[in-house]
Amino acid sequence: MDDPRRYVVIGGGLAGLASAVWLAEAGKRVVLLERRGRLGGRTHSLEVAPLRDVPDNGQHVIASGYQHLFRYLNSVGTRQYVAFPQRGALRWPGGRVVTMGTKGFPAVRALFGAHPDASKADRLRAATATLRLGWQCLRQPGDLADLTTDQWLRRVGMPETAREALWDWLALGIAAEPVRQESAKVFADVMATGIRLGVRHLRPVTIGYPTTDLDTLFVSGAKRVFDRQGVEVKYRAVARRIRIEDGAVTGVVLADGEVEPADAVVCAVPNSYIGGLLDELPEHDEIYSAADKLGYTPIVSTNLYLDRPLGTRAAMEALIGGAGVIDEVFDRQRMHGRGTLNGWLYCLTTSGAYEQIHKPHHEVVDEQMALLRRYYPAAAEAKVLHAQVVPMPRATFSQVVGTDGLRPGQRTSVPTLVLAGDWTRTDWSATMESAAQSAAKAVDLLLALPAAHRTTDRSVTR
Ligand SMILES: Cc1cc2nc3c(=O)[nH]c(=O)nc-3n(C[C@H](O)[C@H](O)[C@H](O)COP(=O)(O)OP(=O)(O)OC[C@H]3O[C@@H](n4cnc5c(N)ncnc54)[C@H](O)[C@@H]3O)c2cc1C
Repeated sequence: MDDPRRYVVIGGGLAGLASAVWLAEAGKRVVLLERRGRLGGRTHSLEVAPLRDVPDNGQHVIASGYQHLFRYLNSVGTRQYVAFPQRGALRWPGGRVVTMGTKGFPAVRALFGAHPDASKADRLRAATATLRLGWQCLRQPGDLADLTTDQWLRRVGMPETAREALWDWLALGIAAEPVRQESAKVFADVMATGIRLGVRHLRPVTIGYPTTDLDTLFVSGAKRVFDRQGVEVKYRAVARRIRIEDGAVTGVVLADGEVEPADAVVCAVPNSYIGGLLDELPEHDEIYSAADKLGYTPIVSTNLYLDRPLGTRAAMEALIGGAGVIDEVFDRQRMHGRGTLNGWLYCLTTSGAYEQIHKPHHEVVDEQMALLRRYYPAAAEAKVLHAQVVPMPRATFSQVVGTDGLRPGQRTSVPTLVLAGDWTRTDWSATMESAAQSAAKAVDLLLALPAAHRTTDRSVTR
């Protein structure tokens, strides 16, 4: 290593993992601090002890436009574990199903009205409104930041059928907020990114999924890189404050009073954990206030092991037309090619789960089973062999109206201190791509620092 400096990364989620991997790839000496006893942050596997099975803390889907995430997967050698299916399914109560193409012409056709009850006039209106929407994503009206996605969809004249079949759940998936509170600007920005990527690569952005558990996808490969490159990982190392002297980082104070010497720091913790860490940074008030205003949105994931198959048509199915709730069902047999010795595993995700998050787990399971029975005839007699409910009250930062422009950049007034994490400013909403892109930007800033002339070898105690 030519560079004697110590690069300390705080946080072992995707943003921190990617920062550590890319700094190590660049030949830097890296220490990764993680407050928990495991890596992966909000993307990790959870063992279901009696079954010795490892579903995830929540189903994660991956857009083909996630450039930085794919760079990360290539770095850690797990790119082969992402698949892009040819179709998804929309399902209405009673079991009515429409399969939607996810690539090429079938995908474009779905954009213009996938609802089985859409009339010709509806489809024409949907096509016109979709073009208007696309245009306004790229040339955004000045008042977009003041609108909810619901208001914007009304304004462009999107018919109800097209909203129900596509736009409302797509918007919910993009920003994890119901359309009546989600910021239209957030939705438009992500759509604009998708359109630009689609034009640049001459193919529309489509949705895929991991074909393995999240630990194998994100963590195991990173650990191999760390072993190879000599990255030191410190578990249960809770960072409390980043020390700054004379405009440069000198160390990270830990909860146990130890100080981890540092010449540069990537602070890759979520907005909910930033408080206190940046106290010595001149602009800390501004960043804390933004972190606070960005707030959180809840997601509840339910992993259901059933005694029989549900008869899905696709690996990913959106349940539409229920009591205002839009859930997604992921068929792990189709996605992972898994056996059914432990039963048939279905992962249900409820985004914007403001009500569900407060319910006891058995109630969530009962509700989800009732939902499945309404949508899947095969679920009528199905029995739950095992269930796991994963409530994530702070699943992502919130992207409601009024949050636009709050996200801080990766650069700070101290050149050796950079921020990363999905909540920092990127082209995407609260996603894995945002975490990976923020890491790429943060690492680029540190790699652009002038060459080092001194070695830090301090072990300071507060
Ligand atoms: C249920 C669910 C479903 C989702 N679905 C999708 C999806 O389909 N597609 C998609 O793209 N995204 C999805 N996301 C969002 C995605 O998971 C996150 O955007 C991404 O994982 C955030 O990564 P991060 O590194 O920024 O933060 P995190 O993963 O939260 O990592 C931060 C890490 O910092 C650690 N930490 C915090 N404070 C300290 C401290 N003081 N000292 C040391 N360590 C600290 C934490 O323990 C954590 O490990 C989903 C999220 C959830 C919860």
